[in-house]
Amino acid sequence: MAEITLTDVRKAYGKTDVIHGIDLAVASGELIVIVGPSGCGKSTLLRMVAGLETVTGGEIAIAGRVVNELEPRDRNIAMVFQNYALYPHMSVFENMAYGLKIARTPKAEIEARVGEAAAMLELAHLLKRKPRELSGGQRQRVAMGRAIVRQPAAFLFDEPLSNLDARLRVQMRVEIRELQRRLATTALYVTHDQVEAMTMADRMVVMNGGRAEQVGAPLEVYDRPATTFVAGFIGSPPMNLMPNGDGTLGVRAEHVALVAEGQGHRDAEIATAEPLGAETLLHLRLSDDTLVIARQPGHAAVPDASRVAISWADTAVHHFGKDGVRL
Ligand code: ADP
Repeated sequence: MAEITLTDVRKAYGKTDVIHGIDLAVASGELIVIVGPSGCGKSTLLRMVAGLETVTGGEIAIAGRVVNELEPRDRNIAMVFQNYALYPHMSVFENMAYGLKIARTPKAEIEARVGEAAAMLELAHLLKRKPRELSGGQRQRVAMGRAIVRQPAAFLFDEPLSNLDARLRVQMRVEIRELQRRLATTALYVTHDQVEAMTMADRMVVMNGGRAEQVGAPLEVYDRPATTFVAGFIGSPPMNLMPNGDGTLGVRAEHVALVAEGQGHRDAEIATAEPLGAETLLHLRLSDDTLVIARQPGHAAVPDASRVAISWADTAVHHFGKDGVRL
Protein backbone atom coordinates (compact mmCIF):
# COMPACT_ATOMS: atom_id res chain seq x y z
CA MET A 1 0.00 0.00 0.00
CA ALA A 2 1.23 3.46 -0.86
CA GLU A 3 2.02 5.55 2.20
CA ILE A 4 1.14 8.87 0.61
CA THR A 5 -1.33 9.08 -2.24
CA LEU A 6 -2.24 12.22 -4.13
CA THR A 7 -5.26 11.99 -6.41
CA ASP A 8 -5.89 14.90 -8.80
CA VAL A 9 -4.70 17.38 -6.16
CA ARG A 10 -5.40 21.00 -7.07
CA LYS A 11 -4.79 24.40 -5.56
CA ALA A 12 -6.11 27.83 -6.47
CA TYR A 13 -5.40 31.11 -4.74
CA GLY A 14 -8.54 33.12 -5.48
CA LYS A 15 -9.08 32.72 -9.23
CA THR A 16 -5.47 31.73 -9.96
CA ASP A 17 -4.82 28.00 -10.38
CA VAL A 18 -1.31 27.15 -9.18
CA ILE A 19 -1.52 23.33 -8.95
CA HIS A 20 -3.36 21.81 -11.88
CA GLY A 21 -4.04 18.24 -10.81
CA ILE A 22 -1.23 16.08 -9.42
CA ASP A 23 -1.43 12.28 -9.13
CA LEU A 24 1.29 10.53 -7.17
CA ALA A 25 1.63 7.31 -5.18
CA VAL A 26 4.57 7.32 -2.77
CA ALA A 27 5.41 3.79 -1.63
CA SER A 28 6.16 2.94 1.97
CA GLY A 29 9.79 3.82 2.73
CA GLU A 30 10.32 5.64 -0.54
CA LEU A 31 12.03 9.02 -0.84
CA ILE A 32 10.40 11.15 -3.51
CA VAL A 33 12.01 14.45 -4.49
CA ILE A 34 9.78 17.16 -5.91
CA VAL A 35 12.03 19.33 -8.06
CA GLY A 36 11.43 22.32 -10.31
CA PRO A 37 12.23 25.99 -10.76
CA SER A 38 11.10 28.69 -8.35
CA GLY A 39 7.35 29.29 -8.49
CA CYS A 40 6.40 25.92 -10.02
CA GLY A 41 4.32 24.97 -6.97
CA LYS A 42 6.62 22.60 -5.05
CA SER A 43 6.16 24.21 -1.64
CA THR A 44 2.43 24.63 -2.13
CA LEU A 45 2.12 20.91 -2.89
CA LEU A 46 4.19 19.91 0.16
CA ARG A 47 2.31 22.33 2.41
CA MET A 48 -0.98 20.79 1.30
CA VAL A 49 0.33 17.34 2.31
CA ALA A 50 1.42 18.83 5.64
CA GLY A 51 -1.94 20.50 6.17
CA LEU A 52 -0.49 24.02 6.19
CA GLU A 53 -2.50 24.90 3.06
CA THR A 54 -6.05 23.89 2.25
CA VAL A 55 -6.67 21.65 -0.76
CA THR A 56 -8.86 23.16 -3.49
CA GLY A 57 -9.56 19.86 -5.25
CA GLY A 58 -8.67 16.18 -5.16
CA GLU A 59 -7.59 13.97 -2.30
CA ILE A 60 -4.51 13.41 -0.15
CA ALA A 61 -4.16 10.16 1.82
CA ILE A 62 -1.42 9.29 4.32
CA ALA A 63 -1.10 5.66 5.43
CA GLY A 64 -4.46 4.88 3.84
CA ARG A 65 -6.37 7.68 5.56
CA VAL A 66 -7.72 10.73 3.71
CA VAL A 67 -6.28 13.75 5.48
CA ASN A 68 -7.80 16.67 3.52
CA GLU A 69 -9.75 17.89 6.53
CA LEU A 70 -7.24 16.95 9.25
CA GLU A 71 -5.17 19.47 11.19
CA PRO A 72 -1.38 19.22 10.63
CA ARG A 73 -0.84 17.75 14.11
CA ASP A 74 -3.30 14.94 13.37
CA ARG A 75 -1.59 13.82 10.15
CA ASN A 76 1.27 11.90 11.77
CA ILE A 77 3.92 13.66 9.68
CA ALA A 78 7.06 15.58 10.62
CA MET A 79 8.25 18.56 8.64
CA VAL A 80 11.86 19.76 8.28
CA PHE A 81 12.09 23.35 7.08
CA GLN A 82 14.76 25.42 5.39
CA ASN A 83 15.09 27.69 8.44
CA TYR A 84 14.94 24.68 10.85
CA ALA A 85 12.38 26.58 13.00
CA LEU A 86 14.26 25.73 16.21
CA TYR A 87 13.22 27.46 19.44
CA PRO A 88 16.16 29.75 20.28
CA HIS A 89 15.59 29.77 24.05
CA MET A 90 15.39 25.98 24.31
CA SER A 91 18.31 23.56 24.54
CA VAL A 92 18.92 20.92 21.90
CA PHE A 93 17.27 18.35 24.18
CA GLU A 94 14.22 20.54 24.74
CA ASN A 95 13.93 21.30 21.04
CA MET A 96 13.98 17.62 20.18
CA ALA A 97 11.63 16.70 23.03
CA TYR A 98 9.10 19.46 22.47
CA GLY A 99 6.71 17.63 20.12
CA LEU A 100 6.65 14.59 22.40
CA LYS A 101 6.02 16.72 25.46
CA ILE A 102 3.05 18.39 23.76
CA ALA A 103 1.75 14.91 22.91
CA ARG A 104 2.06 14.04 26.65
CA THR A 105 4.55 11.25 26.02
CA PRO A 106 5.84 9.81 29.34
CA LYS A 107 9.13 11.39 30.49
CA ALA A 108 11.13 8.17 30.41
CA GLU A 109 10.07 7.50 26.85
CA ILE A 110 10.94 11.06 25.80
CA GLU A 111 14.41 10.60 27.24
CA ALA A 112 14.85 7.26 25.52
CA ARG A 113 13.70 8.51 22.11
CA VAL A 114 15.69 11.75 22.23
CA GLY A 115 18.73 9.82 23.44
CA GLU A 116 18.45 7.35 20.59
CA ALA A 117 17.99 10.05 17.95
CA ALA A 118 20.84 12.12 19.40
CA ALA A 119 23.16 9.11 19.23
CA MET A 120 22.13 8.43 15.66
CA LEU A 121 22.79 12.05 14.70
CA GLU A 122 25.97 12.43 16.78
CA LEU A 123 24.35 15.12 18.88
CA ALA A 124 24.62 13.35 22.25
CA HIS A 125 27.36 15.69 23.51
CA LEU A 126 25.44 18.81 22.47
CA LEU A 127 22.09 18.23 24.18
CA LYS A 128 22.53 21.08 26.67
CA ARG A 129 23.47 23.70 24.09
CA LYS A 130 21.20 26.38 22.66
CA PRO A 131 20.72 26.57 18.87
CA ARG A 132 22.90 29.71 18.64
CA GLU A 133 25.82 27.68 20.00
CA LEU A 134 25.64 25.21 17.10
CA SER A 135 27.03 25.19 13.58
CA GLY A 136 24.69 25.21 10.59
CA GLY A 137 25.10 21.48 10.07
CA GLN A 138 24.41 20.74 13.74
CA ARG A 139 21.23 22.86 13.67
CA GLN A 140 20.13 20.93 10.61
CA ARG A 141 20.69 17.70 12.54
CA VAL A 142 18.64 18.96 15.48
CA ALA A 143 15.80 19.71 13.06
CA MET A 144 16.16 16.14 11.76
CA GLY A 145 16.24 14.82 15.33
CA ARG A 146 13.04 16.60 16.19
CA ALA A 147 11.39 14.92 13.21
CA ILE A 148 12.80 11.48 14.02
CA VAL A 149 11.72 11.31 17.70
CA ARG A 150 8.08 11.66 16.68
CA GLN A 151 8.34 8.39 14.70
CA PRO A 152 6.01 9.82 12.05
CA ALA A 153 4.42 8.02 9.09
CA ALA A 154 6.29 10.40 6.80
CA PHE A 155 8.96 13.10 6.69
CA LEU A 156 8.28 16.23 4.67
CA PHE A 157 11.36 18.25 3.75
CA ASP A 158 11.06 21.79 2.40
CA GLU A 159 14.42 22.84 0.92
CA PRO A 160 16.16 21.75 4.16
CA LEU A 161 19.69 22.43 2.88
CA SER A 162 19.23 25.81 1.21
CA ASN A 163 20.85 27.78 4.03
CA LEU A 164 24.03 25.71 4.14
CA ASP A 165 27.21 26.33 2.18
CA ALA A 166 28.01 24.12 -0.79
CA ARG A 167 30.32 21.70 1.02
CA LEU A 168 27.96 21.16 3.95
CA ARG A 169 25.05 20.70 1.58
CA VAL A 170 26.79 17.78 -0.07
CA GLN A 171 27.61 16.23 3.32
CA MET A 172 24.10 16.72 4.73
CA ARG A 173 22.34 15.35 1.68
CA VAL A 174 24.27 12.11 2.14
CA GLU A 175 23.45 12.06 5.88
CA ILE A 176 19.75 12.67 5.33
CA ARG A 177 19.60 10.01 2.64
CA GLU A 178 21.36 7.41 4.82
CA LEU A 179 19.19 8.21 7.80
CA GLN A 180 15.99 8.01 5.78
CA ARG A 181 17.06 4.62 4.38
CA ARG A 182 17.97 3.35 7.83
CA LEU A 183 14.64 4.41 9.32
CA ALA A 184 12.74 3.42 6.15
CA THR A 185 10.39 6.34 6.72
CA THR A 186 8.46 7.52 3.67
CA ALA A 187 9.65 10.98 2.63
CA LEU A 188 8.66 13.83 0.36
CA TYR A 189 11.56 16.20 -0.28
CA VAL A 190 11.25 19.55 -2.06
CA THR A 191 14.20 21.25 -3.73
CA HIS A 192 14.96 23.49 -6.70
CA ASP A 193 18.40 21.84 -6.94
CA GLN A 194 18.44 19.16 -9.60
CA VAL A 195 21.70 17.66 -8.31
CA GLU A 196 20.07 17.13 -4.91
CA ALA A 197 17.12 15.53 -6.70
CA MET A 198 19.35 13.25 -8.79
CA THR A 199 21.47 12.11 -5.85
CA MET A 200 18.79 11.65 -3.18
CA ALA A 201 15.63 10.47 -4.90
CA ASP A 202 14.30 6.97 -5.30
CA ARG A 203 12.00 8.69 -7.76
CA MET A 204 11.59 12.32 -8.62
CA VAL A 205 8.70 14.46 -9.72
CA VAL A 206 9.80 17.20 -12.11
CA MET A 207 7.33 20.07 -11.80
CA ASN A 208 6.73 22.93 -14.20
CA GLY A 209 4.00 25.54 -13.89
CA GLY A 210 1.93 23.57 -11.37
CA ARG A 211 2.08 20.31 -13.31
CA ALA A 212 4.11 17.13 -12.90
CA GLU A 213 5.97 16.90 -16.22
CA GLN A 214 7.63 13.59 -15.40
CA VAL A 215 7.82 11.10 -12.55
CA GLY A 216 10.61 8.53 -12.54
CA ALA A 217 13.89 7.25 -11.14
CA PRO A 218 16.69 9.83 -11.57
CA LEU A 219 18.55 8.01 -14.34
CA GLU A 220 15.33 7.09 -16.10
CA VAL A 221 14.47 10.79 -16.25
CA TYR A 222 18.02 11.69 -17.28
CA ASP A 223 18.11 9.07 -20.03
CA ARG A 224 14.57 9.60 -21.35
CA PRO A 225 13.29 13.08 -20.50
CA ALA A 226 9.58 13.33 -21.32
CA THR A 227 9.70 16.95 -22.49
CA THR A 228 12.19 19.62 -23.57
CA PHE A 229 11.56 21.29 -20.21
CA VAL A 230 12.74 18.21 -18.31
CA ALA A 231 15.67 17.76 -20.73
CA GLY A 232 16.75 21.33 -20.08
CA PHE A 233 16.26 21.17 -16.31
CA ILE A 234 17.76 17.81 -15.29
CA GLY A 235 21.48 17.36 -15.84
CA SER A 236 24.44 19.69 -15.47
CA PRO A 237 25.04 20.99 -18.06
CA PRO A 238 21.45 20.62 -19.30
CA MET A 239 20.75 18.65 -22.48
CA ASN A 240 21.66 20.51 -25.67
CA LEU A 241 18.46 21.40 -27.52
CA MET A 242 18.61 22.36 -31.19
CA PRO A 243 15.79 23.45 -33.49
CA ASN A 244 15.10 20.62 -35.96
CA GLY A 245 12.47 21.06 -38.63
CA ASP A 246 9.15 21.11 -36.83
CA GLY A 247 10.49 20.12 -33.44
CA THR A 248 13.59 19.95 -31.30
CA LEU A 249 16.55 17.64 -31.30
CA GLY A 250 18.35 16.92 -28.02
CA VAL A 251 21.86 15.56 -27.39
CA ARG A 252 23.59 15.29 -23.99
CA ALA A 253 26.94 17.11 -23.71
CA GLU A 254 28.81 13.83 -23.14
CA HIS A 255 27.55 12.57 -26.50
CA VAL A 256 28.75 15.53 -28.57
CA ALA A 257 32.01 14.75 -30.41
CA LEU A 258 34.19 17.31 -32.19
CA VAL A 259 35.22 16.62 -35.77
CA ALA A 260 36.71 18.69 -38.57
CA GLU A 261 34.62 21.45 -40.13
CA GLY A 262 32.23 20.09 -42.76
CA GLN A 263 32.54 16.51 -41.43
CA GLY A 264 29.83 16.45 -38.76
CA HIS A 265 26.12 17.02 -38.24
CA ARG A 266 26.45 20.78 -37.68
CA ASP A 267 29.29 23.25 -38.18
CA ALA A 268 30.16 25.23 -35.09
CA GLU A 269 32.46 27.87 -33.68
CA ILE A 270 34.20 27.45 -30.34
CA ALA A 271 32.98 30.21 -28.04
CA THR A 272 34.64 29.33 -24.71
CA ALA A 273 36.20 26.44 -22.84
CA GLU A 274 35.58 25.73 -19.15
CA PRO A 275 38.41 23.59 -17.76
CA LEU A 276 37.00 21.91 -14.62
CA GLY A 277 39.85 19.49 -14.00
CA ALA A 278 38.09 16.15 -14.35
CA GLU A 279 36.35 17.39 -17.48
CA THR A 280 36.37 20.29 -19.89
CA LEU A 281 33.15 21.89 -21.15
CA LEU A 282 33.46 23.36 -24.62
CA HIS A 283 30.82 25.94 -25.50
CA LEU A 284 30.07 25.96 -29.21
CA ARG A 285 27.96 28.33 -31.28
CA LEU A 286 26.04 26.99 -34.29
CA SER A 287 25.34 29.12 -37.37
CA ASP A 288 21.78 29.85 -36.11
CA ASP A 289 23.30 31.09 -32.81
CA THR A 290 22.19 28.01 -30.84
CA LEU A 291 24.69 27.23 -28.08
CA VAL A 292 25.82 23.62 -27.67
CA ILE A 293 28.04 22.26 -24.91
CA ALA A 294 30.43 19.36 -25.51
CA ARG A 295 31.80 17.54 -22.47
CA GLN A 296 35.36 16.34 -23.00
CA PRO A 297 37.13 14.13 -20.46
CA GLY A 298 40.01 15.44 -18.36
CA HIS A 299 42.22 18.34 -19.42
CA ALA A 300 41.01 18.17 -23.00
CA ALA A 301 42.98 20.26 -25.45
CA VAL A 302 40.93 22.99 -27.12
CA PRO A 303 41.22 22.49 -30.90
CA ASP A 304 43.44 25.06 -32.64
CA ALA A 305 40.85 25.76 -35.29
CA SER A 306 38.05 27.97 -33.98
CA ARG A 307 35.75 26.46 -36.60
CA VAL A 308 34.86 22.79 -36.06
CA ALA A 309 31.90 20.49 -36.54
CA ILE A 310 29.93 18.49 -34.00
CA SER A 311 28.77 14.95 -34.39
CA TRP A 312 26.91 12.30 -32.38
CA ALA A 313 25.74 8.72 -32.61
CA ASP A 314 22.15 8.15 -33.80
CA THR A 315 21.41 6.38 -30.52
CA ALA A 316 22.32 9.55 -28.57
CA VAL A 317 19.60 11.65 -30.19
CA HIS A 318 16.34 12.62 -28.45
CA HIS A 319 13.46 13.88 -30.62
CA PHE A 320 10.80 16.25 -29.32
CA GLY A 321 7.73 17.48 -31.18
CA LYS A 322 6.58 21.06 -31.71
CA ASP A 323 4.79 20.94 -28.34
CA GLY A 324 8.06 19.92 -26.62
CA VAL A 325 6.86 16.38 -25.88
CA ARG A 326 9.20 13.44 -26.55
CA LEU A 327 8.39 11.60 -29.78
P1 ADP B 1 7.88 26.94 -5.42
O1 ADP B 1 7.87 26.31 -4.07
O2 ADP B 1 8.01 25.94 -6.52
O3 ADP B 1 8.87 28.05 -5.55
P2 ADP B 1 5.30 27.95 -4.62
O4 ADP B 1 4.56 26.71 -4.26
O5 ADP B 1 5.87 28.74 -3.50
O6 ADP B 1 6.43 27.60 -5.66
O7 ADP B 1 4.35 28.89 -5.47
C1 ADP B 1 3.61 28.42 -6.59
C2 ADP B 1 2.80 29.56 -7.16
O8 ADP B 1 1.77 29.93 -6.24
C3 ADP B 1 3.60 30.81 -7.43
O9 ADP B 1 3.16 31.38 -8.64
C4 ADP B 1 3.27 31.70 -6.25
O10 ADP B 1 3.36 33.05 -6.61
C5 ADP B 1 1.85 31.30 -5.92
N1 ADP B 1 1.54 31.45 -4.49
C6 ADP B 1 2.17 30.83 -3.47
N2 ADP B 1 1.62 31.16 -2.29
C7 ADP B 1 0.63 32.04 -2.57
C8 ADP B 1 -0.35 32.76 -1.78
N3 ADP B 1 -0.38 32.63 -0.45
N4 ADP B 1 -1.21 33.55 -2.44
C9 ADP B 1 -1.18 33.68 -3.77
N5 ADP B 1 -0.32 33.03 -4.56
C10 ADP B 1 0.58 32.22 -3.99
